Amino acid sequence: MRTSQLYAPTLREVPAEAEVISHKLMLRAGMIRKAAGGLYTYLPLAWRTIKKIEQIIREEMDSAGGQEIAMPIVQPSELWKETGRWEVYGDEMFRVNDRHGREFCLGPTHEEMVTSIVRDEVRSYKQLPLMLYQIQNKYRDEIRPRFGLMRGREFIMKDLYSFDKDEEGMRVSYKKMYDAYTNIFTRCGLTFRPVEADNGAIGGGGSHEFTVLADAGESSIAYCEKCDYAASDEKAELKAIHAVQEEALPLEKVATPGTKTIALLADYLKIPVEKTIKAVAYQTETDEVVLAFVRGDHEVNEVKVLNSVGAIALRMADEAAIRAVGGEPGFMSPVGIKKGTKIVADATVMEMVNAVAGANEADAHYKNVTPKRDFGEVIVTDIRLVQEGDPCPRCGAPLKMTRGIEAGQVFMLGTKYSEALHATFLDESGKEKPLVMGCYGIGVGRTMAAAIEQNNDKDGIIWPRAIAPFEVVVVPVNAKVPEQLELAEKIYGELKAAGVDVLLDDRKERAGVKFKDCDLIGYPLRITVGPKAVEEGTIELRVRKTGETFNETKETYLAKAREILKTL
Ligand code: ATP
Ligand code: MG
Repeated sequence: MRTSQLYAPTLREVPAEAEVISHKLMLRAGMIRKAAGGLYTYLPLAWRTIKKIEQIIREEMDSAGGQEIAMPIVQPSELWKETGRWEVYGDEMFRVNDRHGREFCLGPTHEEMVTSIVRDEVRSYKQLPLMLYQIQNKYRDEIRPRFGLMRGREFIMKDLYSFDKDEEGMRVSYKKMYDAYTNIFTRCGLTFRPVEADNGAIGGGGSHEFTVLADAGESSIAYCEKCDYAASDEKAELKAIHAVQEEALPLEKVATPGTKTIALLADYLKIPVEKTIKAVAYQTETDEVVLAFVRGDHEVNEVKVLNSVGAIALRMADEAAIRAVGGEPGFMSPVGIKKGTKIVADATVMEMVNAVAGANEADAHYKNVTPKRDFGEVIVTDIRLVQEGDPCPRCGAPLKMTRGIEAGQVFMLGTKYSEALHATFLDESGKEKPLVMGCYGIGVGRTMAAAIEQNNDKDGIIWPRAIAPFEVVVVPVNAKVPEQLELAEKIYGELKAAGVDVLLDDRKERAGVKFKDCDLIGYPLRITVGPKAVEEGTIELRVRKTGETFNETKETYLAKAREILKTL
């Protein structure tokens, strides 16, 4: 490919609409253009990288036993109604009607569709295990599409589904996918961590997110440097902290005017925040009130609360709903709440003695609250959000926190979808059983964006070689000089013949302009052909990542280029 024929409209200015580096650089490097919020065109450079990532994914899926298929993007509503997700998906689902008024959606994911295919054909355990996958556009009407390809409304996903005869088989398939994902992100040249994750609304029995470490990431992860524990902040388990034992004193109501926050309360009573109990009130999708309590210096982990009560969604409760169960906004505690109200207390709260908690009336709190004695019927579990320095649940060392981008996720689904859709098979003894499933997704565009977030400098992108749009760019310093262009053409031809993915920058632009573009787009290796090359036979190789240059000859440059590329 020659730059003179390449459609890569680079921009000098930083586009105002872009917030994160990958989005800015992809626009500036002429890789993508926006059609509408969360909808993008991939121009040739981006598409080359997408195809390379897809190829790596394909190879790893195939060698793990996956078979590629292509399912329709447009899916009938009936299937989604069978699992109940037609309602659950809510506004995130793009819905369309055909000319007869039949309802369809644009697939946000394909569990229903793939299970419906398998249920009609798989009859016997002898046909298992089975792994089917596709690489295709997905559609989600995200509330906040942003960060370019990182959170789009139309995006490319690889989704694989595994079907096994029992849980043991599912775990084997899961492990194969876990290993394949490790290979994929390693081959893409990314620094990542597989972290324990919450299953979320998809349900099932275990999950890992593959998180590319980057400051711009929307995921927060806790990890231990002493052992290999790593989990998303939603998932990170925390053990109860034992309070210093003291004698429980009788409850005492005290006036605490205007102390709606923990900080104001602790200040007013001159007590440490660790002696207070914090309340957060939620309402579920069925409007039921759920009250959650953590120690004053802790934060509530909403996902854990959601799981502890088996709800599908939580939102902040409105004041009327709080008062209806006997609570007072800003002064809530389980003491005196209407019987039957769902209350979840963090395990650490239950260890507290003589704490301060709300009195369920304005401007008043109770002193000497001892939850084990005073809370009545509550759900006790871990609902605390992890913080830097919390003890590792495995080894106790202080946890560290870092940010990352979820590029892929693997789930053990179990029989949730096969039961709902009646996808069964006959086992060895002729007994009918539901298929045991797993599902495994990778965001292809998000992986490309994550690679840029992790590999860039002030001049532009620094591609890992395996997913660079081109591995090498050959630049004649002055393409108007026939000898330079001729030699550059020769080198370009030799590299191509040697199987290197190479671009020739044959534009008759100033060298400075071309070098700037090359750095912005981020080709891993640049080969410069200037007057010295023509006169003395010196060919310069420059590594984008380090800025290192090597002077080679016509005889040695190819071997050197190969040697360098291996390390990038
Ligand atoms: P998130 O939590 O970021 O919304 P998710 O957990 O809903 O993502 P999955 O259903 O696990 O996403 O989808 C598999 C993969 O698809 C994700 O790991 C991610 O890489 C990618 N992905 C999901 N949503 C988007 C999106 N809106 N834009 C681009 N990629 C996405
Ligand atoms: Mg996910």
